Amino acid sequence: METKAVNYRAAFEAAVETVREEGRYRIFRDIRRKAGAFPRATWFKDDKSEQNITVWCSNDYLGMGQNPCVVEAVKSAVDAAGTGSGGTRNISGTTRYHVQLEAELADLHDKDAALVLTSGYVANEATLGVMSKILPGLVILSDEMNHASMISGIQRARCEKVIFKHNDLADLEAKLKKIPADQPKLIAFESVYSMDADIAPIEQICDLADKYGALTYIDEVHAVGMYGPHGGGVAEERGLMDRIDIIQGTLAKAYGMVGGYIAADSVIIDAVRSTASGFIFTTSIPPSTAAGALRSVKVLKQTPEKREQHQERANELKSRLRAGGYNFIDGDTHIVPLMVGDPVKCQAISDTLINDYGIYAQAINYPTVPRGTERLRFTPSPFHDDIMMDELMSALETVWAEYGLKREKVA
Ligand code: PMP
Repeated sequence: METKAVNYRAAFEAAVETVREEGRYRIFRDIRRKAGAFPRATWFKDDKSEQNITVWCSNDYLGMGQNPCVVEAVKSAVDAAGTGSGGTRNISGTTRYHVQLEAELADLHDKDAALVLTSGYVANEATLGVMSKILPGLVILSDEMNHASMISGIQRARCEKVIFKHNDLADLEAKLKKIPADQPKLIAFESVYSMDADIAPIEQICDLADKYGALTYIDEVHAVGMYGPHGGGVAEERGLMDRIDIIQGTLAKAYGMVGGYIAADSVIIDAVRSTASGFIFTTSIPPSTAAGALRSVKVLKQTPEKREQHQERANELKSRLRAGGYNFIDGDTHIVPLMVGDPVKCQAISDTLINDYGIYAQAINYPTVPRGTERLRFTPSPFHDDIMMDELMSALETVWAEYGLKREKVA
């Protein structure tokens, strides 16, 4: 690199240095997951020694990534079909497993059809990215807290974009009002916002969509498998699935696999699968992944008790933090963000927790969250028992004092 007229190395080094200076250099922990033991695991420290840890920040929310039925489904699909899918969906990459999974997902959301893409990120980017091609003159109204994948999709769409204040119905309505009635509109938002642990006013957004003739697009990535009688998400829980035009989800969080999808009316699915580059030009997920996801979706459809246990554990952690006077976001979801408010401290606390206490909670810094709102994001699962909660609370107590972080006086 140094021999070239342009100093490429210096540019890359400067980019990394900027990130370091802002305290948001990312450290990837080298974790050894242990099926059957989750959330207990081990990690490899810098000196290569292996240490026991408890994982408190996994998005495998319900531990389905180690569920024996899911593991078995993956293994038998590998035995039956081999590893990769062998191609894009169009060129030999559509297998029985993909077809069955899409039928299952359509059924989960009570829609005509579903389309599986390689990740939740790709599902958002590819689908939103192609909307303006399908709907010329489209305006996309996007919640200001929408995930990077939705933002990227909207940028790809190169259509008019209107950002409305987070979960703010008055602002959304004011913006909808300004768009001519005959211009196509799409409101893009999430159900559970994963960093702030809050939930969109879905019903009222649908009311506004009806009033102003807009389509609705919801990202239920942090809710599918977790909310609703069958795990259809918050829209299912609130009886609103039929009022959402496109439901987007992931197979990577509650379902413990990888992949993303959309579920919608068959004409929408047909249009997206026929035009979206992010679907057309990439190899489909392996048959075994589709098989594991299929099993996981089926299991979670039939076991509401897993969702109940999960909520109970999340509530237990929240009530302990409340009692301890910690500054955390006390929302209605399973996500528990514990505020630190400083990027360097946040990273240092995360390091101390894992090194000294075997507690793994990743620091969440800018750009994932706004500057000054850095936090540790805890995601308790049904497998986080009272002993693990005791260990966590005792570690937090010491570390919070060590770093001089405030706690409210508790009576
Ligand atoms: N949407 C939201 C709201 C997310 O938080 C994420 C990832 N964390 C995605 C989409 C992307 O999903 P996936 O990890 O399946 O790519």
